Amino acid sequence: TPSLPDHALEQARHLLADVFGFSQFRPPQEAVVSSLLCGRDALVVMPTGGGKSLCYQLPSLVRPGTGVVVSPLIALMQDQVSALSQLGIRAGCLNSALDLSQLQATEQALLKGELDLLYVAPERLLQPRTLAVLQRCSIALFAIDEAHCVSQWGHDFRPEYLQLDRLSALFPEVPRIALTATADERTRREILHRLALREADEYVQGFDRPNIRYRIGQKERAREQLLKFIRDEHEQDAGVVYCLSRKRVEETAAFLCDRGLNALPYHAGLSAELRQHHQHRFLTEESIIMVATIAFGMGIDKPNVRFVAHLDLPRSVEAYYQETGRAGRDGLPADAWMVYGLQDVLFLRQMLESSNAQDQIKQIERQKLEAMLGLCEITTCRRQALLSYFGETEHPPCGNCDTCLEPVPVWDATEAVRKALSAVYRSGQRFGVNHVIDILLAQDSDKVRQYGHQKLSTWGIGRDLDRNQWRSVFRQLVARGLVRVDAEGRGVLLLNETCRPLLKGEAQIELRQDPRGPTSRKDFRSA
Ligand code: ADP
Ligand code: ZN
Repeated sequence: TPSLPDHALEQARHLLADVFGFSQFRPPQEAVVSSLLCGRDALVVMPTGGGKSLCYQLPSLVRPGTGVVVSPLIALMQDQVSALSQLGIRAGCLNSALDLSQLQATEQALLKGELDLLYVAPERLLQPRTLAVLQRCSIALFAIDEAHCVSQWGHDFRPEYLQLDRLSALFPEVPRIALTATADERTRREILHRLALREADEYVQGFDRPNIRYRIGQKERAREQLLKFIRDEHEQDAGVVYCLSRKRVEETAAFLCDRGLNALPYHAGLSAELRQHHQHRFLTEESIIMVATIAFGMGIDKPNVRFVAHLDLPRSVEAYYQETGRAGRDGLPADAWMVYGLQDVLFLRQMLESSNAQDQIKQIERQKLEAMLGLCEITTCRRQALLSYFGETEHPPCGNCDTCLEPVPVWDATEAVRKALSAVYRSGQRFGVNHVIDILLAQDSDKVRQYGHQKLSTWGIGRDLDRNQWRSVFRQLVARGLVRVDAEGRGVLLLNETCRPLLKGEAQIELRQDPRGPTSRKDFRSA
């Protein structure tokens, strides 16, 4: 192992203050910088906003040659380059958004050794032409940003990342650093392996974001709830609202605008110019609410986002963590607010079951959704659960999430659950949740008469609860995997083997007591 030249770290400390204007390193920046200055490979896992960029920017300035940064975020490269230029750092980028003369100018600067940092999209880097240019210049290091994109099991998989292992053979002398905000052990192993990092030093920074308050509530009338949350707590603030579909993004943005808020839509169906424009306004103006699909956010560095709201359930805890992590990067109090309901659970389950993915992938997706639902339904500290998902099991209850601030009342639902399961079973496991609840409540309908369901032994046995309470029961049963929905996407409820002891009265179950919501029939149907 080559030892670190003393003056190199000394120089790095000076540059930290003189160029970046920071008085000290954040953990583990200094250690990462020294690894690279020694010529070693590194893997850095730090939460969003933790300060990953400095880990490769600084050594790129100290080591001779150009630091080459591989990033999938073409839309942000130009912003990054301008931000660096303002610090007096000579940076350029290569990507498909540039025209030929711009590309040539950057290549020339590179060859003349006039660039400290070069940002490049992975597909561009791997083109023979780019590799040939790079082999003719001096390279300080390779930084592979958003390195979890190499993971086939992850939610951001990019096939072109798989070929980045070629850098190891082509540039054996150049240290490489992989960076990501996605933590779990499996993803880390995969990154090391697929990028062929050599005896990399690993730096895994704590995942806690103490300034973020987590809240997950029951969805009643989602938009009204959102509006109330924003008006009560974030009147003039910048925030992001995540929705699953483009349509819901549009509708929600229009709804908020109608009520006088500064909301802008963002999704992949909008033209590149409009997206760019909305992103720019979000970054530069004070109190814009970006209503977006998950297409928005990766790499966005706006420190004062005061809230991230979810109107639809994310598919995994990783996604939830990354999306909520965009709030409060400045360290000041921020909110992660979400409402979810029965329909979300049914919808995500159905999408998953009816997808064409390989069984192995489906199985992993299923586990991820399970973990996300677990986080929603948990009755103990959310932060503790979130952090233990990422392997940090030492945290005490945080005192700053909804379940800590207002302990969740639970109720002994053994009897109700037995009724619910019986109603599904007696009607032959052929109906959706609304019809099963009709049976429990003895609610007459054409369908009831068509199937003669008034004659079932379960007809009307659930009149002690109202429709909303039954929906809450079914949501929790589906979330806990006691009941599932059919794979054909018809929303038919089916019993899982695990519910047998409950059905037979051999087991007890406690459920969350959800606050009572609106009770008119119209309301639940549209929930
Ligand atoms: P990440 O890439 O991990 O999401 P960034 O590299 O964008 O995070 O850094 C997040 C914020 O933290 C930026 O505004 C950056 O200027 C700031 N930052 C990074 N390192 C330091 C430091 N040592 N001291 C103070 N601020 C820092
Ligand atoms: Zn807590």
